[in-house]
Amino acid sequence: MSIDIKNLSVSSAAELLNSGKISAVELCNAFIARIDAIDNQIKAFLKLDRAEIISAAEAADQRHSTGNQLSEFDGIPIAIKDCIVAEGQTCSCASKLLENVVAPYDSTVVAKLRAKGFIPMGRVNMDEFAMGSTCENSAFQKTANPWDTERVPGGSSGGSAASVAASEVPAALGSDTGGSIRQPASFCGCVGLKPTYGRISRYGLVAFASSLDQIGPLTHSVLDAAILLDTIGGHDKRDSTSLPDACEGFAAAVRAVAGKDLTGIKIGLPKEYFSAEGLEPSIKAITDAAIATCKKLGAEIVEVSLPHTKYAISAYYIIATAEASANLARFDGIRYGARAPESKDLVDSYFKSRGAGFGDEVKRRILLGTYVLSSGYYDAYYLKAQKVRTLIRRDFENAAKECNIILTPVAPSVAFKFGEKSDPLQMYLADIFTIALNLAGNCGISVPAAIEPDSGMPVGIQLIAPTLQEKTLLEVAAIFEANREQSEFAANL
Ligand code: GLN
Repeated sequence: MSIDIKNLSVSSAAELLNSGKISAVELCNAFIARIDAIDNQIKAFLKLDRAEIISAAEAADQRHSTGNQLSEFDGIPIAIKDCIVAEGQTCSCASKLLENVVAPYDSTVVAKLRAKGFIPMGRVNMDEFAMGSTCENSAFQKTANPWDTERVPGGSSGGSAASVAASEVPAALGSDTGGSIRQPASFCGCVGLKPTYGRISRYGLVAFASSLDQIGPLTHSVLDAAILLDTIGGHDKRDSTSLPDACEGFAAAVRAVAGKDLTGIKIGLPKEYFSAEGLEPSIKAITDAAIATCKKLGAEIVEVSLPHTKYAISAYYIIATAEASANLARFDGIRYGARAPESKDLVDSYFKSRGAGFGDEVKRRILLGTYVLSSGYYDAYYLKAQKVRTLIRRDFENAAKECNIILTPVAPSVAFKFGEKSDPLQMYLADIFTIALNLAGNCGISVPAAIEPDSGMPVGIQLIAPTLQEKTLLEVAAIFEANREQSEFAANL
Protein backbone atom coordinates (compact mmCIF):
# COMPACT_ATOMS: atom_id res chain seq x y z
CA MET A 1 0.00 0.00 0.00
CA SER A 2 1.25 3.49 -0.65
CA ILE A 3 1.50 5.48 2.55
CA ASP A 4 0.71 9.13 3.05
CA ILE A 5 3.46 10.20 5.42
CA LYS A 6 2.62 13.92 5.40
CA ASN A 7 2.51 14.83 9.12
CA LEU A 8 2.32 11.14 10.03
CA SER A 9 2.63 10.92 13.81
CA VAL A 10 4.23 8.19 15.89
CA SER A 11 0.84 7.12 17.24
CA SER A 12 -0.71 6.90 13.74
CA ALA A 13 2.33 5.06 12.38
CA ALA A 14 1.97 2.58 15.25
CA GLU A 15 -1.67 1.96 14.31
CA LEU A 16 -0.74 1.31 10.68
CA LEU A 17 2.03 -1.06 11.68
CA ASN A 18 0.07 -2.98 14.27
CA SER A 19 -3.00 -3.43 12.08
CA GLY A 20 -0.71 -4.91 9.43
CA LYS A 21 -1.64 -2.20 6.90
CA ILE A 22 2.03 -1.42 6.34
CA SER A 23 5.33 -3.04 7.16
CA ALA A 24 8.24 -1.36 8.92
CA VAL A 25 10.26 -1.63 5.72
CA GLU A 26 7.52 0.16 3.76
CA LEU A 27 7.30 2.83 6.44
CA CYS A 28 11.05 3.46 6.56
CA ASN A 29 11.34 3.38 2.78
CA ALA A 30 8.60 5.98 2.49
CA PHE A 31 10.49 8.32 4.82
CA ILE A 32 13.80 7.65 3.08
CA ALA A 33 12.17 8.43 -0.28
CA ARG A 34 10.85 11.69 1.14
CA ILE A 35 14.31 12.61 2.44
CA ASP A 36 15.84 11.76 -0.92
CA ALA A 37 13.25 13.93 -2.66
CA ILE A 38 13.39 17.07 -0.52
CA ASP A 39 16.35 17.12 1.82
CA ASN A 40 18.51 18.88 -0.75
CA GLN A 41 16.22 21.85 -0.06
CA ILE A 42 15.87 21.39 3.71
CA LYS A 43 19.33 20.05 4.61
CA ALA A 44 18.21 18.67 7.93
CA PHE A 45 20.30 15.49 7.67
CA LEU A 46 24.05 15.37 8.19
CA LYS A 47 24.18 11.58 7.79
CA LEU A 48 21.74 8.88 6.80
CA ASP A 49 22.68 5.21 6.67
CA ARG A 50 19.89 3.83 4.51
CA ALA A 51 21.08 0.23 4.59
CA GLU A 52 21.29 0.15 8.38
CA ILE A 53 17.77 1.59 8.70
CA ILE A 54 16.29 -0.93 6.31
CA SER A 55 17.99 -3.84 8.01
CA ALA A 56 16.60 -2.65 11.37
CA ALA A 57 13.17 -2.36 9.75
CA GLU A 58 13.46 -5.91 8.36
CA ALA A 59 14.25 -7.18 11.84
CA ALA A 60 11.16 -5.33 13.16
CA ASP A 61 8.97 -6.90 10.46
CA GLN A 62 10.34 -10.31 11.39
CA ARG A 63 9.30 -9.71 15.01
CA HIS A 64 5.85 -8.48 13.95
CA SER A 65 5.32 -11.59 11.85
CA THR A 66 6.00 -13.86 14.81
CA GLY A 67 4.09 -11.73 17.35
CA ASN A 68 7.31 -10.84 19.18
CA GLN A 69 7.36 -7.10 18.60
CA LEU A 70 9.32 -5.11 21.16
CA SER A 71 6.41 -2.69 21.62
CA GLU A 72 3.61 -1.15 19.59
CA PHE A 73 6.28 1.20 18.17
CA ASP A 74 8.53 -1.51 16.79
CA GLY A 75 9.80 -0.30 13.40
CA ILE A 76 9.15 3.45 13.72
CA PRO A 77 12.06 5.67 12.67
CA ILE A 78 13.17 8.68 14.69
CA ALA A 79 15.82 11.29 13.87
CA ILE A 80 18.60 11.98 16.37
CA LYS A 81 20.27 15.34 16.98
CA ASP A 82 23.98 15.11 16.22
CA CYS A 83 25.04 15.60 19.86
CA ILE A 84 23.35 12.41 21.13
CA VAL A 85 25.49 9.33 20.53
CA ALA A 86 24.37 6.14 18.80
CA GLU A 87 26.76 3.22 18.57
CA GLY A 88 28.61 2.98 15.26
CA GLN A 89 27.33 6.33 13.99
CA THR A 90 29.14 9.61 13.65
CA CYS A 91 28.56 12.24 16.31
CA SER A 92 30.03 15.56 15.19
CA CYS A 93 27.92 18.10 17.13
CA ALA A 94 27.99 19.89 13.76
CA SER A 95 31.62 20.81 14.49
CA LYS A 96 34.63 20.37 12.23
CA LEU A 97 36.54 19.36 15.32
CA LEU A 98 34.47 16.18 15.68
CA GLU A 99 33.82 15.50 12.01
CA ASN A 100 33.87 11.74 11.35
CA VAL A 101 34.12 10.83 15.06
CA VAL A 102 32.24 7.54 15.47
CA ALA A 103 30.50 6.82 18.77
CA PRO A 104 31.52 3.54 20.39
CA TYR A 105 28.35 3.17 22.49
CA ASP A 106 24.66 4.08 22.68
CA SER A 107 23.43 6.98 24.79
CA THR A 108 20.82 5.87 27.30
CA VAL A 109 18.04 7.50 25.29
CA VAL A 110 19.04 5.72 22.08
CA ALA A 111 19.33 2.41 23.96
CA LYS A 112 15.84 2.96 25.37
CA LEU A 113 14.45 3.80 21.93
CA ARG A 114 15.99 0.66 20.46
CA ALA A 115 14.61 -1.45 23.32
CA LYS A 116 11.10 -0.47 22.18
CA GLY A 117 11.92 -1.05 18.53
CA PHE A 118 12.26 2.58 17.44
CA ILE A 119 14.86 2.92 14.69
CA PRO A 120 17.41 5.76 15.04
CA MET A 121 17.21 7.44 11.66
CA GLY A 122 20.20 9.52 10.69
CA ARG A 123 21.99 12.39 12.35
CA VAL A 124 20.30 15.77 12.15
CA ASN A 125 21.87 19.20 11.98
CA MET A 126 22.28 21.64 14.85
CA ASP A 127 24.19 24.74 15.85
CA GLU A 128 27.78 23.73 16.64
CA PHE A 129 27.82 22.21 20.14
CA ALA A 130 24.20 23.39 20.54
CA MET A 131 25.23 27.03 20.73
CA GLY A 132 22.80 29.14 18.78
CA SER A 133 19.19 29.79 17.86
CA THR A 134 19.10 29.31 14.08
CA CYS A 135 21.25 26.32 13.04
CA GLU A 136 23.41 28.82 11.13
CA ASN A 137 26.32 27.99 13.45
CA SER A 138 26.60 24.46 12.03
CA ALA A 139 30.02 23.94 10.47
CA PHE A 140 28.51 21.89 7.66
CA GLN A 141 25.25 23.25 6.28
CA LYS A 142 22.39 25.63 6.83
CA THR A 143 19.09 23.91 7.46
CA ALA A 144 16.03 25.62 6.00
CA ASN A 145 12.59 26.02 7.52
CA PRO A 146 10.12 23.76 5.64
CA TRP A 147 7.46 26.49 5.88
CA ASP A 148 9.66 29.00 4.06
CA THR A 149 13.10 27.96 2.88
CA GLU A 150 14.39 31.55 3.15
CA ARG A 151 13.97 31.32 6.90
CA VAL A 152 15.84 29.45 9.61
CA PRO A 153 14.28 26.48 11.39
CA GLY A 154 15.43 27.83 14.77
CA GLY A 155 18.02 26.24 16.96
CA SER A 156 19.95 24.70 18.17
CA SER A 157 17.79 21.62 17.44
CA GLY A 158 16.90 23.06 14.02
CA GLY A 159 17.58 19.84 12.13
CA SER A 160 15.31 17.93 14.49
CA ALA A 161 12.45 20.42 14.09
CA ALA A 162 12.86 20.78 10.32
CA SER A 163 12.99 17.01 9.75
CA VAL A 164 9.72 16.55 11.64
CA ALA A 165 7.99 19.56 10.06
CA ALA A 166 9.06 18.39 6.58
CA SER A 167 7.63 14.91 7.29
CA GLU A 168 11.04 13.34 6.79
CA VAL A 169 10.55 11.46 10.07
CA PRO A 170 7.58 11.06 12.41
CA ALA A 171 9.58 12.46 15.37
CA ALA A 172 13.07 13.51 16.46
CA LEU A 173 15.13 13.90 19.59
CA GLY A 174 16.70 17.24 20.43
CA SER A 175 18.39 18.84 23.40
CA ASP A 176 17.46 22.00 25.25
CA THR A 177 19.94 24.07 27.26
CA GLY A 178 18.21 27.42 26.93
CA GLY A 179 15.29 26.77 24.60
CA SER A 180 16.80 24.66 21.83
CA ILE A 181 13.86 22.28 21.65
CA ARG A 182 11.00 24.70 22.32
CA GLN A 183 12.09 27.54 20.02
CA PRO A 184 12.70 25.49 16.85
CA ALA A 185 9.45 23.61 17.54
CA SER A 186 7.64 26.94 17.58
CA PHE A 187 9.42 28.16 14.42
CA CYS A 188 8.57 24.95 12.54
CA GLY A 189 5.02 24.28 13.79
CA CYS A 190 5.73 21.20 15.87
CA VAL A 191 5.53 20.20 19.52
CA GLY A 192 8.73 20.44 21.59
CA LEU A 193 9.05 19.19 25.15
CA LYS A 194 11.79 20.12 27.60
CA PRO A 195 11.31 17.79 30.55
CA THR A 196 12.31 18.52 34.14
CA TYR A 197 16.09 18.54 34.63
CA GLY A 198 17.06 14.97 35.57
CA ARG A 199 13.99 13.28 34.06
CA ILE A 200 15.92 12.01 31.07
CA SER A 201 19.43 10.64 31.28
CA ARG A 202 22.19 12.78 29.79
CA TYR A 203 24.47 9.76 29.46
CA GLY A 204 25.71 9.94 25.88
CA LEU A 205 24.62 13.54 25.31
CA VAL A 206 27.70 15.62 24.46
CA ALA A 207 27.65 18.25 27.19
CA PHE A 208 27.23 21.95 26.44
CA ALA A 209 26.22 23.22 29.90
CA SER A 210 25.68 20.20 32.10
CA SER A 211 23.48 21.84 34.73
CA LEU A 212 21.09 23.10 32.05
CA ASP A 213 21.11 20.46 29.28
CA GLN A 214 18.12 18.19 28.89
CA ILE A 215 17.13 15.84 26.06
CA GLY A 216 13.56 15.88 24.78
CA PRO A 217 11.30 15.03 21.83
CA LEU A 218 10.12 17.11 18.85
CA THR A 219 6.89 15.69 17.45
CA HIS A 220 3.70 16.35 15.49
CA SER A 221 1.46 15.96 18.54
CA VAL A 222 1.37 16.22 22.31
CA LEU A 223 0.46 12.53 22.45
CA ASP A 224 3.69 11.67 20.61
CA ALA A 225 5.69 13.83 23.05
CA ALA A 226 4.12 11.82 25.89
CA ILE A 227 4.87 8.51 24.16
CA LEU A 228 8.52 9.49 23.79
CA LEU A 229 8.80 10.74 27.36
CA ASP A 230 7.45 7.36 28.53
CA THR A 231 10.05 5.69 26.32
CA ILE A 232 13.23 7.64 27.07
CA GLY A 233 12.67 8.90 30.63
CA GLY A 234 13.47 7.42 34.02
CA HIS A 235 16.34 6.86 36.37
CA ASP A 236 19.78 6.01 35.02
CA LYS A 237 22.60 5.13 37.35
CA ARG A 238 25.10 6.32 34.73
CA ASP A 239 23.93 9.93 35.11
CA SER A 240 24.55 11.25 38.62
CA THR A 241 21.92 13.98 38.15
CA SER A 242 19.24 11.54 37.04
CA LEU A 243 16.11 11.65 39.21
CA PRO A 244 14.87 8.50 40.92
CA ASP A 245 11.22 9.19 40.06
CA ALA A 246 9.28 6.89 37.76
CA CYS A 247 8.71 8.38 34.34
CA GLU A 248 5.74 6.64 32.74
CA GLY A 249 2.01 6.78 32.12
CA PHE A 250 2.15 10.08 30.25
CA ALA A 251 0.68 8.75 27.01
CA ALA A 252 -2.16 7.15 28.96
CA ALA A 253 -2.77 10.45 30.76
CA VAL A 254 -2.92 12.34 27.46
CA ARG A 255 -5.32 9.80 25.95
CA ALA A 256 -7.52 10.04 29.05
CA VAL A 257 -8.14 13.79 28.64
CA ALA A 258 -9.67 13.42 25.15
CA GLY A 259 -12.87 15.48 25.09
CA LYS A 260 -12.13 17.16 28.42
CA ASP A 261 -11.80 20.88 29.09
CA LEU A 262 -9.62 22.95 31.44
CA THR A 263 -12.07 23.32 34.33
CA GLY A 264 -10.13 23.44 37.60
CA ILE A 265 -6.87 24.53 35.98
CA LYS A 266 -5.35 27.85 36.95
CA ILE A 267 -3.17 29.40 34.27
CA GLY A 268 -0.69 32.07 35.32
CA LEU A 269 0.48 34.86 33.03
CA PRO A 270 3.83 36.32 34.14
CA LYS A 271 3.45 40.06 33.75
CA GLU A 272 7.18 40.56 33.06
CA TYR A 273 6.95 38.33 29.98
CA PHE A 274 4.13 40.25 28.40
CA SER A 275 5.83 43.60 28.81
CA ALA A 276 9.16 42.28 27.48
CA GLU A 277 10.92 44.52 25.03
CA GLY A 278 10.97 43.14 21.52
CA LEU A 279 7.80 41.03 21.77
CA GLU A 280 6.24 41.58 18.37
CA PRO A 281 2.59 42.65 18.36
CA SER A 282 1.53 39.74 16.14
CA ILE A 283 3.09 37.22 18.57
CA LYS A 284 1.40 38.97 21.48
CA ALA A 285 -1.93 38.77 19.61
CA ILE A 286 -1.50 35.03 18.97
CA THR A 287 -0.62 34.47 22.62
CA ASP A 288 -3.65 36.49 23.73
CA ALA A 289 -5.88 34.41 21.47
CA ALA A 290 -4.44 31.23 23.01
CA ILE A 291 -5.19 32.60 26.48
CA ALA A 292 -8.77 33.33 25.37
CA THR A 293 -9.07 29.73 24.12
CA CYS A 294 -7.94 28.42 27.51
CA LYS A 295 -10.43 30.69 29.26
CA LYS A 296 -13.24 29.46 27.03
CA LEU A 297 -12.23 25.94 27.99
CA GLY A 298 -12.89 26.76 31.66
CA ALA A 299 -9.36 27.62 32.86
CA GLU A 300 -9.04 30.36 35.44
CA ILE A 301 -6.53 32.98 34.26
CA VAL A 302 -4.46 34.79 36.90
CA GLU A 303 -1.57 37.23 36.72
CA VAL A 304 1.68 36.06 38.32
CA SER A 305 5.06 37.67 38.73
CA LEU A 306 8.53 36.34 37.92
CA PRO A 307 10.38 39.41 39.18
CA HIS A 308 13.91 38.32 38.29
CA THR A 309 13.14 37.72 34.61
CA LYS A 310 15.21 40.71 33.54
CA TYR A 311 18.38 39.04 34.84
CA ALA A 312 17.76 35.66 33.23
CA ILE A 313 19.62 36.24 29.96
CA SER A 314 22.72 37.60 31.70
CA ALA A 315 22.77 34.80 34.27
CA TYR A 316 22.28 32.17 31.58
CA TYR A 317 25.04 33.45 29.32
CA ILE A 318 27.45 33.47 32.25
CA ILE A 319 26.58 30.04 33.61
CA ALA A 320 26.20 28.34 30.22
CA THR A 321 29.48 29.72 28.87
CA ALA A 322 31.34 28.90 32.09
CA GLU A 323 30.20 25.29 31.92
CA ALA A 324 30.87 25.14 28.19
CA SER A 325 34.43 26.36 28.64
CA ALA A 326 35.04 23.49 31.06
CA ASN A 327 33.13 20.87 29.05
CA LEU A 328 34.79 21.72 25.75
CA ALA A 329 38.31 21.62 27.21
CA ARG A 330 38.41 17.91 26.37
CA PHE A 331 38.23 18.62 22.64
CA ASP A 332 41.90 19.22 22.22
CA GLY A 333 42.75 17.14 19.17
CA ILE A 334 44.42 14.54 21.36
CA ARG A 335 41.82 12.86 23.49
CA TYR A 336 39.00 13.83 21.13
CA GLY A 337 38.77 15.48 17.79
CA ALA A 338 40.81 16.29 14.74
CA ARG A 339 44.47 17.07 15.45
CA ALA A 340 46.10 19.84 13.46
CA PRO A 341 49.16 18.51 11.64
CA GLU A 342 52.63 19.92 12.11
CA SER A 343 52.71 21.54 15.49
CA LYS A 344 55.93 22.34 17.35
CA ASP A 345 54.82 21.18 20.79
CA LEU A 346 51.80 20.25 22.84
CA VAL A 347 50.54 23.78 23.48
CA ASP A 348 50.96 24.68 19.83
CA SER A 349 49.00 21.56 18.92
CA TYR A 350 46.14 22.63 21.24
CA PHE A 351 46.10 26.10 19.72
CA LYS A 352 46.14 24.86 16.16
CA SER A 353 43.62 22.03 16.63
CA ARG A 354 41.12 24.10 18.58
CA GLY A 355 41.74 27.14 16.42
CA ALA A 356 40.97 25.20 13.25
CA GLY A 357 38.21 22.99 14.68
CA PHE A 358 35.89 25.39 16.51
CA GLY A 359 33.65 27.96 14.84
CA ASP A 360 33.37 31.62 15.87
CA GLU A 361 30.42 31.28 18.22
CA VAL A 362 32.01 28.39 20.09
CA LYS A 363 35.25 30.33 20.47
CA ARG A 364 33.36 33.40 21.65
CA ARG A 365 31.65 31.35 24.35
CA ILE A 366 34.80 29.58 25.48
CA LEU A 367 36.46 32.98 25.87
CA LEU A 368 33.54 34.41 27.80
CA GLY A 369 33.23 31.33 29.99
CA THR A 370 36.93 31.23 30.77
CA TYR A 371 36.83 34.91 31.64
CA VAL A 372 33.92 34.65 34.11
CA LEU A 373 35.60 31.71 35.83
CA SER A 374 39.01 33.33 36.13
CA SER A 375 40.24 34.41 39.52
CA GLY A 376 39.31 38.00 40.20
CA TYR A 377 36.14 37.76 38.09
CA TYR A 378 34.66 34.56 39.50
CA ASP A 379 32.89 36.27 42.40
CA ALA A 380 31.74 39.24 40.37
CA TYR A 381 30.23 37.20 37.53
CA TYR A 382 29.95 33.46 38.03
CA LEU A 383 29.04 33.43 41.71
CA LYS A 384 26.65 36.32 41.24
CA ALA A 385 24.97 34.51 38.33
CA GLN A 386 24.53 31.42 40.50
CA LYS A 387 22.81 33.54 43.14
CA VAL A 388 20.53 35.02 40.51
CA ARG A 389 19.78 31.50 39.36
CA THR A 390 18.48 30.65 42.84
CA LEU A 391 16.26 33.73 42.78
CA ILE A 392 14.87 32.73 39.39
CA ARG A 393 14.10 29.26 40.69
CA ARG A 394 12.30 30.79 43.66
CA ASP A 395 10.28 33.00 41.31
CA PHE A 396 8.88 29.86 39.68
CA GLU A 397 8.27 28.19 43.05
CA ASN A 398 6.34 31.23 44.25
CA ALA A 399 4.33 31.44 41.05
CA ALA A 400 3.44 27.76 41.44
CA LYS A 401 1.56 28.62 44.62
CA GLU A 402 -0.86 30.62 42.51
CA CYS A 403 -1.34 28.53 39.39
CA ASN A 404 -0.88 25.03 37.94
CA ILE A 405 0.54 26.14 34.60
CA ILE A 406 2.25 29.26 33.30
CA LEU A 407 1.51 30.36 29.73
CA THR A 408 3.94 32.53 27.74
CA PRO A 409 5.15 33.17 24.19
CA VAL A 410 8.05 30.94 23.04
CA ALA A 411 9.98 33.53 21.06
CA PRO A 412 9.43 37.24 20.44
CA SER A 413 9.01 36.78 16.65
CA VAL A 414 8.43 34.23 13.91
CA ALA A 415 11.41 32.36 12.43
CA PHE A 416 14.09 34.79 11.27
CA LYS A 417 15.27 35.09 7.68
CA PHE A 418 18.80 33.76 7.10
CA GLY A 419 21.39 36.29 8.26
CA GLU A 420 18.75 38.51 9.85
CA LYS A 421 20.22 38.20 13.32
CA SER A 422 23.89 38.67 12.64
CA ASP A 423 24.65 40.43 15.94
CA PRO A 424 25.23 37.72 18.58
CA LEU A 425 23.81 39.88 21.35
CA GLN A 426 20.54 40.42 19.46
CA MET A 427 20.36 36.68 19.04
CA TYR A 428 20.90 36.08 22.78
CA LEU A 429 18.12 38.55 23.63
CA ALA A 430 15.62 36.49 21.63
CA ASP A 431 16.01 33.69 24.21
CA ILE A 432 14.17 35.73 26.83
CA PHE A 433 11.13 33.44 27.21
CA THR A 434 12.85 30.06 27.19
CA ILE A 435 16.03 30.25 29.23
CA ALA A 436 14.67 30.96 32.71
CA LEU A 437 13.15 27.50 32.69
CA ASN A 438 16.52 25.82 32.23
CA LEU A 439 17.98 27.89 35.07
CA ALA A 440 15.06 26.85 37.29
CA GLY A 441 15.09 23.20 36.15
CA ASN A 442 11.34 22.76 35.67
CA CYS A 443 9.50 21.54 32.58
CA GLY A 444 7.98 23.30 29.58
CA ILE A 445 6.44 22.55 26.23
CA SER A 446 5.96 24.49 23.03
CA VAL A 447 2.68 23.76 21.25
CA PRO A 448 1.72 25.24 17.87
CA ALA A 449 -0.99 27.86 18.36
CA ALA A 450 -1.61 29.75 15.12
CA ILE A 451 -0.22 30.89 11.79
CA GLU A 452 1.04 34.46 11.77
CA PRO A 453 -0.94 36.10 8.94
CA ASP A 454 1.74 38.38 7.45
CA SER A 455 4.53 35.82 7.19
CA GLY A 456 2.43 32.65 6.96
CA MET A 457 4.74 31.16 9.59
CA PRO A 458 3.64 28.98 12.53
CA VAL A 459 3.82 30.30 16.08
CA GLY A 460 3.76 28.27 19.27
CA ILE A 461 2.88 29.04 22.85
CA GLN A 462 4.92 27.84 25.80
CA LEU A 463 3.30 26.08 28.75
CA ILE A 464 5.40 25.71 31.91
CA ALA A 465 4.82 23.45 34.91
CA PRO A 466 6.67 22.95 38.20
CA THR A 467 9.37 20.32 38.58
CA LEU A 468 8.11 16.79 37.82
CA GLN A 469 4.63 18.00 36.85
CA GLU A 470 4.84 16.72 33.28
CA LYS A 471 1.52 14.93 33.65
CA THR A 472 -0.42 18.17 34.19
CA LEU A 473 1.75 19.91 31.59
CA LEU A 474 1.00 17.34 28.89
CA GLU A 475 -2.70 17.11 29.79
CA VAL A 476 -3.18 20.87 29.51
CA ALA A 477 -1.11 20.95 26.32
CA ALA A 478 -3.23 18.17 24.78
CA ILE A 479 -6.50 19.91 25.67
CA PHE A 480 -5.22 23.15 24.17
CA GLU A 481 -4.03 21.31 21.06
CA ALA A 482 -7.45 19.74 20.54
CA ASN A 483 -9.24 23.10 20.81
CA ARG A 484 -6.90 25.69 19.27
CA GLU A 485 -8.23 27.76 16.40
CA GLN A 486 -5.83 26.41 13.80
CA SER A 487 -6.20 22.64 13.92
CA GLU A 488 -3.58 21.47 11.39
CA PHE A 489 0.01 22.64 11.02
CA ALA A 490 1.35 21.41 7.70
CA ALA A 491 4.50 22.93 6.24
CA ASN A 492 4.40 24.04 2.62
CA LEU A 493 7.14 21.78 1.45
N1 GLN B 1 19.92 29.76 22.04
C1 GLN B 1 20.51 29.36 23.27
C2 GLN B 1 22.01 29.42 23.17
O1 GLN B 1 22.48 29.80 22.15
C3 GLN B 1 20.01 28.01 23.66
C4 GLN B 1 20.83 26.90 23.13
C5 GLN B 1 20.37 25.56 23.60
O2 GLN B 1 19.33 25.43 24.22
N2 GLN B 1 21.18 24.56 23.33
O3 GLN B 1 22.70 29.10 24.07
